[in-house]
Amino acid sequence: MNELLAAFRYTTNNWAQIEASTQCGCCHCVALFRPDEIVGWTGLTMENMNDAEAVSQQTAMCPRCGSEAVLGDGCGFAINANFLARMNEAWFQRTMIHRPAARK
Ligand SMILES: [Zn+2]
Repeated sequence: MNELLAAFRYTTNNWAQIEASTQCGCCHCVALFRPDEIVGWTGLTMENMNDAEAVSQQTAMCPRCGSEAVLGDGCGFAINANFLARMNEAWFQRTMIHRPAARK
C-alpha cells in the first residue's frame, strides 16, 4: 500500500498510538510537537467517557491548528517535516488523489 494512504488511517482513533509515540506532527499545518502537547481529543461523550475502548479510540486534535490530522511515530512512520509535507500535499492539496486521465 502507498505509505501515505497507510499513514492517513492513523490520523483517526489514534489515542493508543499517540500514547506510544515520542514525536507527533500535523498533516494539516505541518507542525511538529510532542504527544503531551496534545490537549484536545474528539470521540468521547458523557455516555462513553468511562468506556476504556472508547477512550483508546479518541482522535487527537492538533495543538496548533485544531485539525484531526495528527500522526505519531508510534504508527511506524518517521514523523518529520518532509513526511508531513508529503502528507499535506496528498491530503490537503489533493495532488495524489485524482481520476485517471481520459483516453483519447
Ligand atoms: Zn495542525
